[in-house]
Formats: sequence, C-alpha cells, structure tokens
Amino acid sequence: MTDKTSAPRIPLTPHTPLTVLGAGAMGTALVRAWLAAGHPVTVWNRTPARAEALAAEGAAVARTAAEAVAGNRLVIVCLLDDASVGAALDGVDLTGRDLVNLTTGTPADGRARAAWATARGARFLDGGIMAVPPMIGAAGSGAYVFYSGSRTLFDEHRDTLAVPAGTRYVGEDAGFAALHDVALLSAMTGMFAGVSHAFALIRREAIAPGDFAPLLASWLTAMAPSVHLAAAQLETGDYGKDVVSNLAMQVAGNATLLRTAEEQGVSAELLTPYMGLMERWLAEGHGEEDATGMVELLDLGRGGASA
Ligand code: NDP
Repeated sequence: MTDKTSAPRIPLTPHTPLTVLGAGAMGTALVRAWLAAGHPVTVWNRTPARAEALAAEGAAVARTAAEAVAGNRLVIVCLLDDASVGAALDGVDLTGRDLVNLTTGTPADGRARAAWATARGARFLDGGIMAVPPMIGAAGSGAYVFYSGSRTLFDEHRDTLAVPAGTRYVGEDAGFAALHDVALLSAMTGMFAGVSHAFALIRREAIAPGDFAPLLASWLTAMAPSVHLAAAQLETGDYGKDVVSNLAMQVAGNATLLRTAEEQGVSAELLTPYMGLMERWLAEGHGEEDATGMVELLDLGRGGASA
C-alpha cells in the first residue's frame, strides 16, 4: 500500500504556464507563489536585475515585454500604475492573450484598459489585490483579489488565479474590481485617521501605546458590524429603521470629543470634516435617525456636498 504522506505529489492537471510583467515587491511575491505551486513562469521587468533575481528560483526571464507576452497565453500585469501598463505594453501584440491586470487603478482605468485590450484582440480581467506582499501565497493569510471583466477568462483560469491569493469575482463591469478595492481602502483610510487621533490624545499621558492598542483594536472590531445595519437602511431607504445611535445624540457627543482634543492639545482636523457633515444632516431634519443617510451629502450630483 502506498504511503500517502511520502508519495510524490503528481498534479492531476498540468500547471498552466503564465507570464508576469513586473517584478516589483508585489510582482515578485506573485511569481514566487506560482513557481512554488509548480507553474512555469516567464517574467519581465523594466529594470532587468529584478527579474533576473527570480531566475535562480526557476523563472524564465524575458528580455522584452513583447517576448514575455508572446511566451504564454495567460499574462499577469502588476506594475506601478495604469500609465506604466500603457508604457510597458505599447505596441505589444496582444492577439489571443488573456490579460489579467493586477495593477491598482481607478474604475475608469479598469474600464478603459478593458476596451483597450479587447480592441487588441485580448480577453481582459482587472484585479484589485487586498493584501500586502508577505500575505501572497501564505496559507491562511486572508489575502484575496477582486476580479472583474471577462467571466469566461476568470472561469477558465480560476484555479491558477487562486494560487497566490483567494479570488472574488465581482462582475463583468471591468471597473468593479477597482471600485471594490478602492471603496475598502477608503474605509480603511477613515479608520486610520481615527486611530491617529486616538493615539494623539493619549500621547502625552502616562498611558503606554502598547497598553492602549488592544483596547483600540477590540473597540474597532466591536463597532465594525454596524456596517450591516447601515446596509439594511441603505437598501430600504429607511434611515430610521432599527436606529441604534441617533444623530442628535451623536452630534451632542461631538462637542465632548472636540473639547477633549482641545484639553489634550490635539488638533481636531481629522475629525471636523466628518462632524461638519453630521451637523448639516442634522440641520436637514435627520436627528432621530442613525447617521447612515449622510452618504447622500457626499453625492456631488445632489449639489450639496461642497457647500
Ligand atoms: P513596486 O514599486 O515595488 O514595483 C513597481 C513595478 O512597476 C516595478 O516592476 C517597476 O519596474 C514597474 N514600473 C514602474 N513604472 C514603470 C513603467 N513606466 N514602465 C514599466 N514598468 C514600470 O510596486 P509593487 O510591486 O508593490 O506594486 C505593484 C502594484 O501592486 C501597484 O499597482 C500597487 O498598487 C499594487 N499593490 C501593491 C501592494 C503592496 O503592498 N506592495 C498592495 C496591493 C496592491 P522597475 O523595477 O523597472 O522600476
């Protein structure tokens, strides 16, 4: 009887060969993950030394982007920004290629790049990476990538795409991966702003940041599920549904937050833009609701966001 633990691991299906354009921090992590899983990888980087460093780990190094693209049907692009993608692929024949763009961009970048690739005879998938390089290829890290664009491309390469990180396909609209990515990053930015303010408040006191951090993490974790109530209120359009913390109470509480900042000698500049919106929404008569409806004030089409 074969000892399963020592038997050589023979893949049931051959590993899809692929090309990676970009051997920066993220591109390198992606290449390593695919190599480790047994995929033949061709890599190109504008500065050759970064690609050549991966040759010792088994990657084939292409001298030009055109040579790299010609080498494999599946082409992953992970460059600095959308302009780099245009520069690297300028004049390169994309006919019959499956182009997967993991370069961070805006929704409009994704849509324009999809039209650009399709006009050049390629299928196109845009991606937004929700991870930092050490999480790539690390089991259980929680890393994943939003994908949008060609559903057939995604379905055909799903297993290969799942090697470096989890996959979440969010629609045929090529702008949706970037939109999901940037929406999450934007929420994170607000969270980091609050964290900076909180650390500033305690900074000059006899409170160790290391003692305070676990309290901060658990409070933010406890508050995070409130997004589900907000979603339910947005979906029904009923901002008064199942109210937990009404806006009038929250605005009154803001005065305490601002006075505390002043007492501690801390600038309130990270708090005041949000508090200003709360006051405007209160003035529009939403004091008995949660703050959810404030998203309407951010809608530039409403004509009031820049007031
Ligand atoms: P790096 O700065 O480490 O690498 C940038 C890459 O882009 C290099 O390969 C660089 O080539 C290349 N590049 C820049 N300009 C051009 C150009 N004009 N023409 C051709 N190639 C160019 O960035 P990362 O690898 O970290 O990031 C790559 C993408 O991944 C970005 O869009 C980033 O937003 C995204 N990402 C990164 C994360 C991270 O934590 N690192 C997290 C999530 C997404 P060269 O070596 O020649 O300079």
